[in-house]
Amino acid sequence: MALDKPHWKELFSEVVTSGLCTGCAACVVACPHDVLDYESEGGVYKPWHLDIDGGREGCTHGDKGCTMCTRACPRFRNWESEIDTHRFARERTDDEVWGIGDVLLARASDPEVLAGSQDGGFVSALLIHALENNVIDAALVSTLEGDGSDWVAQPGVARTREQVLASAGSRYTYSANLLAYPEAVEGGAERIALVGMGCMVSAPGAMQVRKAGKIARRLSLTIGLLCSKTFDDAIFEDLFEAKYQIRRADIVKMNIKGIFQIWTRDGAFHEVPLKEAHAYTREGCVHCPDFAAEHADISTGGIGAFGDWTLVIVRTDQGRALMESLRESGAIETRPGDDDPGAVALLHKLAQVSRKRWPAEAVPGPRRLPLVRG
Ligand SMILES: Cc1cc2nc3c(=O)[nH]c(=O)nc-3n(C[C@H](O)[C@H](O)[C@H](O)COP(=O)(O)OP(=O)(O)OC[C@H]3O[C@@H](n4cnc5c(N)ncnc54)[C@H](O)[C@@H]3O)c2cc1C
Ligand code: SF4
Ligand code: SF4
Repeated sequence: MALDKPHWKELFSEVVTSGLCTGCAACVVACPHDVLDYESEGGVYKPWHLDIDGGREGCTHGDKGCTMCTRACPRFRNWESEIDTHRFARERTDDEVWGIGDVLLARASDPEVLAGSQDGGFVSALLIHALENNVIDAALVSTLEGDGSDWVAQPGVARTREQVLASAGSRYTYSANLLAYPEAVEGGAERIALVGMGCMVSAPGAMQVRKAGKIARRLSLTIGLLCSKTFDDAIFEDLFEAKYQIRRADIVKMNIKGIFQIWTRDGAFHEVPLKEAHAYTREGCVHCPDFAAEHADISTGGIGAFGDWTLVIVRTDQGRALMESLRESGAIETRPGDDDPGAVALLHKLAQVSRKRWPAEAVPGPRRLPLVRG
């Protein structure tokens, strides 16, 4: 952290309005003065400052020395090397394109968990295991608004197996799961797992290394989701419905496997080319360099030859201990990453593509061009 005590003013000009802001909401949650709010209407997904306190660009608390928003932001200045060094006691090497960690494949042993999940149900199996074995008190997850038929993703808290199962599966619009943090704390949670894409799961590391108080301590486990982009809500009406006559209320599941896959209530299966979806890319994703959720304890994805398995990257000691405990309990089965060399090659390629998106004029770390590793 620089010695100049950067606060909202610097965050606003260097991240929020420069194109680097992902909308992760870490700054909003970290602000102790409640002067930051979050815009999630109209595809904006950005923090904003309440005009009552210094206007859009300034913050009177910051003028007095409050730096909590910049301490929490996982896109502020040298975020990547700071968080790498804190999490892994070293910076990544240039060929560690998808970050530091070991790849394997895993899936839930419980058929009920597997059935309702996106890929191998590993994330849900892990959360249930961690809740039932006193590793965590609550998890910040993504749920669906109302009865789910509108596919509006929203942050939520899971404390029970039933709540974990209700939140399973992937939504491809944004859900700033960190915003559920106050609800988890109000419910008495001290050890909280965060599930989210790379933009969100780098936040606890940023908060910990820059000493952002209690929040950093409570966010004790991070489960990452591999991600190359999320989409604006308009994709439902303007593309799926207008061009393919797929109504959002009829959709029961979506997945992305090189193409948008959509299953509907009538049992039909639809495919929408990804290149048609690109026009609906959420603004906060355009410059994101992190495909592989590089600062999570464990990152997970759906790429690879085996549809009902989750690709897992175990990154930290805590992640390794949890994997061991999951295996011993029989909650998951695993196989080596070597069983699917194509998945590892694709992981490398997609991570490399994302890293090139980081703007050349920003701090250089995430853009360093790596060696090709197979
Ligand atoms: C927006 C998005 C993009 C993704 N892109 C890729 C990709 O390009 N390549 C790839 O290999 N994998 C991608 N994934 C990850 C993949 O879809 C699965 O989430 C992952 O493989 C874990 O599967 P699972 O069966 O173990 O998880 P499950 O047991 O089904 O659990 C999934 C968890 O993800 C959470 N979640 C769902 N939607 C969101 C959301 N929008 N925001 C935050 N949390 C959410 C749920 O709350 C749940 O806890 C993406 C996921 C998301 C959400
Ligand atoms: S990236 Fe996250 S923490 Fe940083 S300004 Fe944007 S919303 Fe706030
Ligand atoms: S590409 Fe994924 S990880 Fe990056 S900002 Fe978008 S949602 Fe977050």
